[in-house]
Amino acid sequence: MALSEFDIITRYFTRPSRRPDVVLGVGDDGALLRVPAGMELVVTIDTLVSGIHFPPATDPYDIGWKTLAVSLSDLAAMGAEPAWATLALTLPEADAAWLTAFSRGLFDLADQYGVALIGGDTTRGPLAVTLQAHGLVPTGQALRRAGARPGDRVYVTGTLGDATLALPQDRRDPSAEVAYLLGRLDRPTPRVAAGLALRGIASAVIDISDGLGADLGHILEASGVGAVVWLERIPRSPALKALSPSWEIVTAGGDDYELCVVIPHDRLDQLSQVWPAAGCDLTPIGEIQTSPGLIWLDAEGNPALFANTGFRHFP
Ligand code: ADP
Ligand code: MG
Repeated sequence: MALSEFDIITRYFTRPSRRPDVVLGVGDDGALLRVPAGMELVVTIDTLVSGIHFPPATDPYDIGWKTLAVSLSDLAAMGAEPAWATLALTLPEADAAWLTAFSRGLFDLADQYGVALIGGDTTRGPLAVTLQAHGLVPTGQALRRAGARPGDRVYVTGTLGDATLALPQDRRDPSAEVAYLLGRLDRPTPRVAAGLALRGIASAVIDISDGLGADLGHILEASGVGAVVWLERIPRSPALKALSPSWEIVTAGGDDYELCVVIPHDRLDQLSQVWPAAGCDLTPIGEIQTSPGLIWLDAEGNPALFANTGFRHFP
């Protein structure tokens, strides 16, 4: 039985909204939403293209999960509380099993954060998924890339390099290390609670989608400063340590969706009070400096050289 575009929308992407701020969701020409007084709306959009942002062999459940996770990661990096999402889906065919798994992955993560899917677009073509997420932040409290000052400390959440190291692994490998790495690639955890905890504390935040070097580089450029980072301090998972000795994977590997956070010294007490609510580790890895550029230091304190460009679609 063939599924029409309207069948797809009603069967897989229409649910009663549990949010009172959704006046009108899926089904009209546009959604109607209420932004509470005293809040600013944060809007972010990302596209996932098959073969570029996820391996074609990825389980559709995980594609659905990751589609939302990468946008929630952007909201986290802004210190925003997730609220709504719209979804533009381009599909080669209307495959019921694929749509069932994809929408489950998407809604399972959406339910964790109380996100309502409030609209979208459905078209035929090579598989690509675009999701726009909307979040709320008290006026003036959003976390930005600009704001890092010399002397501030540089931190990262979680561990780095796992998702990139997952790429060359054999998906049929039964080892616990490979399963862990694939979980990090396919089902990233957006650091939403960390972003909320950092409001009023961090001087700059970015999420690490393109690699630590590239993304910390964006903070440095936006803030007009430089930084030193001690390689040995960058947190690495046991699985990564077991399978790869490469520093490049840790400094330039993307797709981990951890946060890179800059915090002034005098807010560290405040940080230790709120951080337990973040639900993840925060590791100090470096310090902001006046002179521009990013310097990696090895165990002996000598500068190490990397091409820290990160992933680029148009090199
Ligand atoms: P229009 O012709 O006005 O663009 P569409 O036929 O594209 O309307 O969509 C009908 C309704 O379904 C709209 O409310 C739209 O936001 C929603 N919609 C379409 N595709 C999706 C999707 N993949 N997920 C969620 N909502 C969708
Ligand atoms: Mg449309």
